Amino acid sequence: MIKSRDRNTKIIATLGPSSSTFEMIESLFLSGVDVFRLNFSHGDHAGHLQNLHFIQDVEKKYNRPIGVLADLQGPKIRIGVIENGPVTLKSSDLFELHLHPVRGTEKAVQLSHPEIFNVAEKGTSLLLDDGKIKLTVLKNKENILTCEVIVGGPLSSRKGVNVPNIQLPLSAMTDKDRKDLAFVLTQDIPWIALSFVQTPHDIEEARALIGTKAKIIAKLEKPMALRHLDAIVNASDAIMVARGDLGVELPLEEVPSLQKRIIRSCRSVGKPVIVATQMLESMIEAPSPTRAEASDVANAIYDHVDAVMLSAESASGHYPKEAVQMMHRILLHTEKDSQSDYKVLKQATHKSISDAITAAAREITQHLNIRAIITLTHSGSTAYAAAKERPYAPIIGCTQNKQTARELCLCWGVYSLIVPHDAVNVDPISYAKEHHFVHKHDQVIMTSGIPFEKGSTNFLKIVNVD
Ligand code: PEP
Repeated sequence: MIKSRDRNTKIIATLGPSSSTFEMIESLFLSGVDVFRLNFSHGDHAGHLQNLHFIQDVEKKYNRPIGVLADLQGPKIRIGVIENGPVTLKSSDLFELHLHPVRGTEKAVQLSHPEIFNVAEKGTSLLLDDGKIKLTVLKNKENILTCEVIVGGPLSSRKGVNVPNIQLPLSAMTDKDRKDLAFVLTQDIPWIALSFVQTPHDIEEARALIGTKAKIIAKLEKPMALRHLDAIVNASDAIMVARGDLGVELPLEEVPSLQKRIIRSCRSVGKPVIVATQMLESMIEAPSPTRAEASDVANAIYDHVDAVMLSAESASGHYPKEAVQMMHRILLHTEKDSQSDYKVLKQATHKSISDAITAAAREITQHLNIRAIITLTHSGSTAYAAAKERPYAPIIGCTQNKQTARELCLCWGVYSLIVPHDAVNVDPISYAKEHHFVHKHDQVIMTSGIPFEKGSTNFLKIVNVD
């Protein structure tokens, strides 16, 4: 039986061509995946649905909730078609971007996004193909942007365009995203990620469509989002440090300190935070990572993030299972070392009764040999509150709500347990025992909000398991 994984930090793995079978999903789950990511930048609804069914089959087989994250593509801007294959742009040459159709050559290509023509001016930087090519606008006239090539290189059809440092008048949701979202909302998927969020308004817009059906993750990948960081963190349910696009839109040397700033902002208000992209990148091709990649994963643990994510490593790489196993081992080892740092780095404020109780629970785990903190939770909020404190014992989130149980798979230190409706009034400890999370003679802490389903955390008890 799968129980706690003996670690607090969670693993998210992206599904793709390398991992879209029941056998592989089962094997990734057994190797340590807590949440599977369905990436709507690729694939179609039928493929995502099939993967979702595989995940649910694994859930049933092992009687453990599994988290799912649907990641919407967002407004990815692309150039038009370059005729006759890739062309090479040379530094210092002129290159034109046309709003209207034009034959794609080394001199010009179409860019059918009027939003860019509305804001571009002399000096605006445009990055093509994940930042490999850099252009500077010299002139914006008659629906043509005349640019100087600052950094050249090969350019082929439909490559992505980034416009750093400018707030484009684009919603974080395109027509495609709205169709994908409508599909996602027909399924039981607890987390939805929004790409290219720029302001808290983007989250509010999505929330109006999603309601309470799923929780929202804001992917931070635009410099503009960082200007509204605290407001976006407050408006979202969780945050992803999406280092791929962030590293295109901003100088790479700024990414590490921004990562830490985003994590601090999330930690201070107890919102789950995910570090994503290129964590074990070399494992796309090789069975083991570089030393630097192992350190990157470990550093996220020292910063007490909730989850670390695999992208191409598990979606299209040659070693998806090995990448998960490697991540699991790094997490296990590093957490043993980083326990002592939690107190020093903790930023939580203790303003409410609920905050004070969960802080007390954490304090108790420091003094007594506590096997687990057992929380009764309907919405998940008691479990999140306990996790915010980063206690020295795992948190068992007992809930009757399947969706809450799946959602909590993303949260630091929380292992959820689906209990029957009457169990919450009777004895969640016996369920925790039945599932081997706790044993006879263990000491556990119980916290909850009483009356259940109505109040926030206001109750703490130390219990000896019999
Ligand atoms: C990223 O940019 O780092 C990211 C996670 O988003 P995507 O994989 O959609 O590019």
